Amino acid sequence: MSRRIVLLGPPGSGKGTQAVFLAERLGVPAISTGEMLRQAVDEGNALGNRVAGIMGRGDLVDDATMAEVVEERLARQDAQVGFLLDGYPRTTVQAETLAGIVERAGRGLDAVLLIDVPPPVLIARALGRGRADDTEEVIAERLRVYGNKTEPLVGYYKALGLLREINGDQTIEAVTMDLVRALER
Ligand code: AMP
Repeated sequence: MSRRIVLLGPPGSGKGTQAVFLAERLGVPAISTGEMLRQAVDEGNALGNRVAGIMGRGDLVDDATMAEVVEERLARQDAQVGFLLDGYPRTTVQAETLAGIVERAGRGLDAVLLIDVPPPVLIARALGRGRADDTEEVIAERLRVYGNKTEPLVGYYKALGLLREINGDQTIEAVTMDLVRALER
């Protein structure tokens, strides 16, 4: 069974929810960079102060800062058996950083799971979700950023033979089942 996994998908694709289910099943930590950054903002530490404004606008935190955050997290003991990354990488530069980290550990990624959801469904979901930073404008910006900066990763990972696509426009349970199946094949 695959152990070093990236979950890819647009905002509102259900990545976070699925990451928690799947990680538990696989016995690896679910690592959400968005969650880590939100925690830093709540704590009011140096990292949090640096990223709060950027996150509030729906923009991406710079790749160098994210590299530090992820490198430190993946070096921790619990991530040595594997990991499920949710929200990282989000740019090609980040994908290359991640490749470097896992290669230095003498490994590689096992799979990249893409949760595919059509844009109109994403907008409807995002408006219904009600997270504090989910104003219509910020949602639109996040989707735009995803299309411009993150979507190129689909081709990047496809070329590496790592990509497995899952239809995310289904019930939570059905998506979980498809993800588990995609990892078994
Ligand atoms: P998320 O919870 O994954 O939607 O992330 C929330 C916000 O945190 C994003 O809108 C970005 O501002 C920031 N963020 C999380 N992960 C990354 C990343 N890999 N690269 C850049 N910014 C990120």
